[in-house]
Amino acid sequence: MLINSIRTAILDLPLKRPHKMSLFTLEKVNVVLVIVNTDNGHEGLGEAIALGGPTWSEESGESIKSTIDKYLAPYLIGENPSQFEKLRAKMELAVRGNYFAKTALEMAWFDVVGKQRGIPVYDLLGGLAQDRIAMSWSLASNDPEEELKEAETFRQKGGFIFKMKVGSLAPKADAARVKYIRESLPEISLRVDANQGWDRATALRTAKQLDEYQLDFIEQPVPRWDIDGMAAVAKAINTPVMADESLCTPHDAMQLVKKKAASVFGIKLTKAGGFLNCKRQVAIAEAAGIKCYLGCMVETGLGTSAYLHFAVSTPAVMLGCELFGPLLLADDIVKEPTQYHDGYILSNSRPGLGVTLDEARVSKYIHGKMDTIK
Ligand code: MG
Repeated sequence: MLINSIRTAILDLPLKRPHKMSLFTLEKVNVVLVIVNTDNGHEGLGEAIALGGPTWSEESGESIKSTIDKYLAPYLIGENPSQFEKLRAKMELAVRGNYFAKTALEMAWFDVVGKQRGIPVYDLLGGLAQDRIAMSWSLASNDPEEELKEAETFRQKGGFIFKMKVGSLAPKADAARVKYIRESLPEISLRVDANQGWDRATALRTAKQLDEYQLDFIEQPVPRWDIDGMAAVAKAINTPVMADESLCTPHDAMQLVKKKAASVFGIKLTKAGGFLNCKRQVAIAEAAGIKCYLGCMVETGLGTSAYLHFAVSTPAVMLGCELFGPLLLADDIVKEPTQYHDGYILSNSRPGLGVTLDEARVSKYIHGKMDTIK
């Protein structure tokens, strides 16, 4: 089986409600869709999500698409998509960084190989280790009453893990939001994510204040480059510190371990370059006694399925996940609805990633045109 063509397009998908993070408010996501066709008639799907431009990382929908079209796809036509490690090495040599672009392609290789062999992607990643992952819901409207209402709705559906986005308000106001939710729902599992929103001094002060609310972790309190600052916060508080923006490559994982900067790793396929790199990060985490959590970039049902296949084949993902993209997005681009039940997201055992494109909805949200590289 050889790759015949690679098609790419950018889609803009609106959210159901604005999502406030420390640096910006998200109202729509940019989906870079990748469709890989093979010489024996199979099709594989991949996607990478940018949060309204180059905001979360340096990559935007436009840069992801042009990196694939110009600098990656031309070197991959004629290759065998099941040679995962070979293709990974080839992409690393061809392009520096740009992990969102590489992830979308790698996702499509795994999907097409799974479909051709009639097995789910988790069987290509080590097999099924857990069939469901506990779901975290993010509270990010900054309005305490609205957040409590949202939390109660998720509670009624069985949800028990919540993450509050902090860092866009004054530390005092954030601490008050956390206190309010903690006291209103004492039984829940609660975390906060500062998305790099504090400098080191503010992070130290605020994290100490939050230490009394039995948080599972404080995520990315300081800018991604400030590993020493993160280590200082980790040392000063009892609550575990989680690395998200600071953790993209296996090299980052090594630095975080060496500097004792985090005791939880936030894993995301997109920032890491895909399944293979994430497995490498998890190996480092296991060796260092670090637990893993699976984040998201607000993926559609397509990317969500890919993240889920990774999680169910990876026992170290034991702190849950936030694969709520299909719940937060106003619409989806695949036909199969993502299955949620009682606070968990359920795996699917259909071949490949187990999803098929809804062409009508792809046409509805496409921004520009679809390009084909042969
Ligand atoms: Mg985060």
